[in-house]
Amino acid sequence: MNEFELIARYFSRPPRDTGFVAQAGGDDCALLNLGDRQLAVTTDLLVEGRHFLPEVDPAALGHKALAVNLSDLAAAGATPRCFFLALALPRLEPEWLDAFSAGLYALADAHDCVLAGGDTTRAAPVAQGEGPRTFCITAVGEVPAGQAHGRGGARPGDELWVSGSLGDAALALAHLLGEVALTPAALAQVRPRLERPQPRVALGEALRGLATACIDVSDGLAGDAAHIAARSGVQLDIDTAAVPLGTVLGAQPERLRLRCALAGGDDYELLFTAPPQRQAQVRAAAQAAGVAVSRIGRVRAGQGVRLLDAAGQPLVAQWRGYDHFAAGPSTAASGS
Ligand code: ADP
Ligand code: MG
Repeated sequence: MNEFELIARYFSRPPRDTGFVAQAGGDDCALLNLGDRQLAVTTDLLVEGRHFLPEVDPAALGHKALAVNLSDLAAAGATPRCFFLALALPRLEPEWLDAFSAGLYALADAHDCVLAGGDTTRAAPVAQGEGPRTFCITAVGEVPAGQAHGRGGARPGDELWVSGSLGDAALALAHLLGEVALTPAALAQVRPRLERPQPRVALGEALRGLATACIDVSDGLAGDAAHIAARSGVQLDIDTAAVPLGTVLGAQPERLRLRCALAGGDDYELLFTAPPQRQAQVRAAAQAAGVAVSRIGRVRAGQGVRLLDAAGQPLVAQWRGYDHFAAGPSTAASGS
């Protein structure tokens, strides 16, 4: 059983129709009806040793804990409004918490997103020492009723787009895990992509009414594209040569480039579909939001994701997204 089969088997009972929950699990956010508006709600858990390394800069971690949630709101096209913070800490570390809360509040203030409550507990000891620091943030956003985008609206004929660039965060992680050796200058360039992702909130809002489907790329392009394909009941063809690479990643060997860009994770860019006749509007929306967008493929009838090379042939090696319960060794500090 993998992570997504686990959710499907135990936690996907169809909700009773009370008229309040317009969209339950399966998308980046749940949608709740409030008259002519809807609330978009998402929650994400960050566990030390799993999603972040113990030695990470606490200010960056405070930023990232909220950023990954704002990224899910962006995927739905929602405007952030407030969030809740639950945390378990093995011990009281005032300096660490000073920095963590400063990083958290800086991003919250930048998006007018208010800390509205939470819960605080001490992590229980484990056999060989202290339990991991654990943070759970639940974020709430708002969207005009019917204008949120989910993962399910992609239609054959639509074009596939992605914002910004992919893979530099995964490259930074590969360096921190000792898998590659970057120069100090290169590391300084990619590290913020891993530790201080910028949620594409303005782009998500600008794509309301334009994108037919949207997801944020948190677990790797190939895996997250597969979520759109499955939920929309379509096939996505990705022209891998058109995938925009981070500047540092672009100079790396091909295998590393493909791995980081297609299966890396932690990009927090938006992957979305839109009809070809909306191309100019998509470009204008991106420009207004101050984010680059690239067309990287198309939607066809069928199922699954095909990764194509520059000649339009399927890549021999297929890359999958991050799965917390997949067989094989688990990678520390990635995936959401
Ligand atoms: P994301 O990476 O965007 O945060 P996930 O891959 O974590 O999304 O989750 C996929 C979907 O499964 C989401 O709609 C989420 O709400 C739902 N989900 C995940 N865990 C659970 C759970 N324990 N109970 C119910 N729904 C869940
Ligand atoms: Mg998401």
